[in-house]
Amino acid sequence: MDETSLARDRMVEEQIARRGVQAPAVLAAMRTVPRESFVPEELRRHAHEDRPLPIAAGQTISQPFVVALMAEALALRPTDRVLEVGAGSGYAAAVLSRLAAQVHAVERYAELAASAAGRLRELGYDNVELHIGDGTTGWPAAAPFDAILVSAGGPAVPPALTDQLAPDGRLVIPVGETPGDQRLLRVTRNGPATLSQEDLGAVRFVPLIGAQGWTEDGRRAAEWLRP
Ligand code: SAH
Repeated sequence: MDETSLARDRMVEEQIARRGVQAPAVLAAMRTVPRESFVPEELRRHAHEDRPLPIAAGQTISQPFVVALMAEALALRPTDRVLEVGAGSGYAAAVLSRLAAQVHAVERYAELAASAAGRLRELGYDNVELHIGDGTTGWPAAAPFDAILVSAGGPAVPPALTDQLAPDGRLVIPVGETPGDQRLLRVTRNGPATLSQEDLGAVRFVPLIGAQGWTEDGRRAAEWLRP
């Protein structure tokens, strides 16, 4: 076994399994996806540490444990079609692509979307499609989705996203009153007009900026998002 796969195995054991993530498929995906390929060259030696790392455009690649926790919370089946909002480096999308049939990932920074798409292509993750745009309104052209992961924190659950959930669909999203401090929520579509919601704990993500998220200067983007 080479050095980086040893580092990944250790990361999964010490940071992820030990903290309670159990789904074997999720642990396997976290062992397989080469996290070091998704971080900036000069940070490669930190790739398997227990924290988010900076990427381009002032954004971050999420902490490995948080990616695993969210992936487990989505309860993915191999036939599922998934949307990720906030593709960033493409790391979480790559993990999701090992657990589902098809992943659509939306990123608002063209620069990040282009490098994520290139990286995923090089690594052979050919069931991920990268889109540039505002993912707070989902990706209607590919909807509905069995699962939606939002990798940035918004002021409320965007109605556009629950609208794009298939029957039994799951949405995992960090939601909080201020742009850097959230609760991780799981919203499940139980019926055509019924949603249920669970709180999975405290998290800290970069802000979700868009029509159904925050404005660039940290205000709620839309009147209907007020409590
Ligand atoms: N999943 C990523 C984490 C990136 S951080 C990874 O594994 O690397 C969150 C990302 O969400 C940032 O790149 C940010 O630009 C993006 N983002 C924020 N608001 C967005 C929106 N409305 N639509 C799409 N992407 C958004």
